Amino acid sequence: MPNTFLSTVEEDAHITVPEWRLHKVQSPIALKHDETNHYDHFDPLEFHGHWDQGGDATLSNNGFTATLRFQNRELPVLVGGPLHEDQYVFEQLHFHWSDDDHSGCEHIFEGQAYSMEAHAVHYNKKYASFQEAADKHDGLAVVAFFLKATDDDEHPCFNKMTEAVKKIVKINSSTSVPSDCLTWIKEEAQCKGYYTYQGSLTTEPYTESVTWIIYPTPIHVSRQQVSEFRSMKSTSCEQHNIINNVRPIQMPPAHKKLDIIYARSHRKNENKSEVENIEDVPRWIQSLADREPVHESPININISTSTEIEMPPLAWHNHDLPPKKMKITNTGYTLILSAKWHQERPYISEGPLLGNYLHFHWGRNDAEGSEHTIDGVRYPIEMHVVLFKANYLTQEAALKEKDGIVVLSGKNPAFQILIENIVSVQKPHTSMKLNPIPLSYLVKKFERDYFLYWGSVTTTVCLHYILWLVSREPIGVAPEQVDELRSMLDANEEPLQGNFREVQPLNDRHVFHVCPSGSKYATLLALP
Ligand SMILES: [Zn+2]
Ligand SMILES: [Zn+2]
Repeated sequence: MPNTFLSTVEEDAHITVPEWRLHKVQSPIALKHDETNHYDHFDPLEFHGHWDQGGDATLSNNGFTATLRFQNRELPVLVGGPLHEDQYVFEQLHFHWSDDDHSGCEHIFEGQAYSMEAHAVHYNKKYASFQEAADKHDGLAVVAFFLKATDDDEHPCFNKMTEAVKKIVKINSSTSVPSDCLTWIKEEAQCKGYYTYQGSLTTEPYTESVTWIIYPTPIHVSRQQVSEFRSMKSTSCEQHNIINNVRPIQMPPAHKKLDIIYARSHRKNENKSEVENIEDVPRWIQSLADREPVHESPININISTSTEIEMPPLAWHNHDLPPKKMKITNTGYTLILSAKWHQERPYISEGPLLGNYLHFHWGRNDAEGSEHTIDGVRYPIEMHVVLFKANYLTQEAALKEKDGIVVLSGKNPAFQILIENIVSVQKPHTSMKLNPIPLSYLVKKFERDYFLYWGSVTTTVCLHYILWLVSREPIGVAPEQVDELRSMLDANEEPLQGNFREVQPLNDRHVFHVCPSGSKYATLLALP
């Protein structure tokens, strides 16, 4: 496969790979998004086998860090992205941390230090071993993930690591770990944007042989999960703990050019094939995100410019199942309703969800508030049900939002349950437990007759592709219910008057009207 980066000087990168690969500096470095070259044309960076089951995994304490290795299995492989045509084989994954939660990472991103940094070390398969590859200029590829200690619940996938850390407190001890122990990096590794530069090992002998790949969005874990690492011993006398294993930031010497690339990989263009079977439509819709430019949400939706399309009905599961716990939170920006279910959870289509929640957007008065406009008119509240899912047709669609537009009408009894409790979360960053109510009280399920489009949302600088499903049937809510939302206080303790984003240009993307029924003239249906 030809690599355009190699053969041509791209306008947006100004350099070629062979030249770029010679710009080695000592690691770690401080990264600033504004000081990077943007490059959109790498092949996708692919992780093969990192979170598969099978074989053995071992975590060990070498007195400096906790190191994970795989045995008795085919080793995971990293390909694509800035790695040329080469394959890089997984050697080990280890961690860096310090004595407090506000430092502990090696790379600094936008001046921000996180609590830990995980390094997945890979070596170029064209060399016989890690040892042989370690001093070659194209020898190593290290993927870095930030971990941030928060007051939130512990990260359930990361628990496989922390449970094992408790068993390797003694130096030179090791323990077995479930073979699928790397699922906590999966969501981040599917994020389309990452930074890459040519650097060095951050431990002796500091060889300049590393292609660094750094994902900017931190993975949230609990403070307790981070603190487990600090109980590991660094000496056999057991007097000393590993409390800081971070190399300080290295400043490149003046004569060396620091070339950091911000890469976003898109799938290669396939020829648009005619979709013959209705069963193939979802896959085709998913592939659009890779083949058409995706632009920001929200957008204006107009029935007359949408493309009618038929596809199998949406399937809603466990929609009536009451959650185990439910709470509302004033984030200082919006009201979030979050819930935890027992074993069984609501989800759409196949596959379990990692979690889900509802949140609300509202505006200064009843004439504005919803993020999407319908025929150019804003509705006063828009409710987003965010369904996180590990794998829905393509991995790029891991994050989805499903919308219902809320319009003024009589009182909505289910909505009233939330409104009555808003007084308890008047102040920013406060939460309140609610008696659990099933999702079906708040969100009427829709199987057909909805709008669908691809939109992007940038969090920090990680680009998420989101498939938006906008219900054509509005949810009724009374004006005084909307007023209650506006009484909440934002992060500056000012009344939270409006929190919607501006409508973004549609550009050349498709908006689909799925399985249309009812009026072909009004974009929204009348209230039931
Ligand atoms: Zn490291
Ligand atoms: Zn939203």
